[in-house]
Amino acid sequence: MADRDGFIWQDGKLVPWREATTHVLTHSLHYGVAVFEGVRAYNTAKGTAIFRLAEHTQRLINSAKIYRMEIPFSKDELMEAQKEVVRANKLESCYLRPLAFYGSEKMGISTRGARVHVAIAAWPWGAYLGEEGLEKGIRIRTSSYARHHVNVTMPRAKLSGSYANSILANLEATDDGYDEALLLDTQGFVAEGSGENFFMIKDGKIYEPEIASALTGITRDSVIQIARELGYTVESRRLTRDDIYIADEAFFTGTAAEVTPIRELDNRTIGAGKRGPITEKLQARFFDVVNGRAPEYERWLSYV
Ligand code: PMP
Repeated sequence: MADRDGFIWQDGKLVPWREATTHVLTHSLHYGVAVFEGVRAYNTAKGTAIFRLAEHTQRLINSAKIYRMEIPFSKDELMEAQKEVVRANKLESCYLRPLAFYGSEKMGISTRGARVHVAIAAWPWGAYLGEEGLEKGIRIRTSSYARHHVNVTMPRAKLSGSYANSILANLEATDDGYDEALLLDTQGFVAEGSGENFFMIKDGKIYEPEIASALTGITRDSVIQIARELGYTVESRRLTRDDIYIADEAFFTGTAAEVTPIRELDNRTIGAGKRGPITEKLQARFFDVVNGRAPEYERWLSYV
């Protein structure tokens, strides 16, 4: 990743990709308090558009607020910087990674006295869980690791440190031959994937876990709005892993994962064991929306 052409926005200006570096005594590298976003830009007929840029930028600001991190840029500046990165790298469609972190001014647990830095990178990134996954669905397993309790790392924050838990779960699942992990909360109810929100469908109705230990996903919010527009009912409630065993369909949502069907959990086939018909409809509509083929959702697109 570090060795490529292009530009990264760092603390207010574009710098050549290879020069966007930081010191080994970077506070965030040692203690895990950095907040970040994952954003996608799509190539629409009217040009490249960043999907839900304002909402992603607000979530970054919220994550920082939770950790009492003062980002030295306004929301407008951060939004403009993200557009600038896409333009500077001449990307038609891409993934964007804004990151705010503490610098190398000090060591020790307290963040007081450490400077907040902001970097924004962008690069092409295809289907996160594979093109085949998008079409045929993926196989997942329940993780032996619990998702963070609501009083641990603060699930409303997209915090780098929280991803230690995601990494444990994802390595375990992929070592065992599955595509992704499903994490339960500390009480044993379904929380989310290592980097995705979860949905299931039963008797024509869509269910999502109550968002307690999970991140408030922006793709999740988009899919809920799309589903309601298509006439489906979406209910948030506590879900158990065996609710999923006997569901008709299931899928993950995420900026990277988009809408990825799930065909198997813990070696139980879900529904017909392939992308289900409602999932397919939601997925198709989602791709229409992000790619600028749904004028009703134009408000979610920010042209670069
Ligand atoms: N949960 C976790 C743990 C994630 O990392 C992500 C990806 N950001 C999501 C859910 C989905 O969020 P979004 O749709 O906003 O990308």
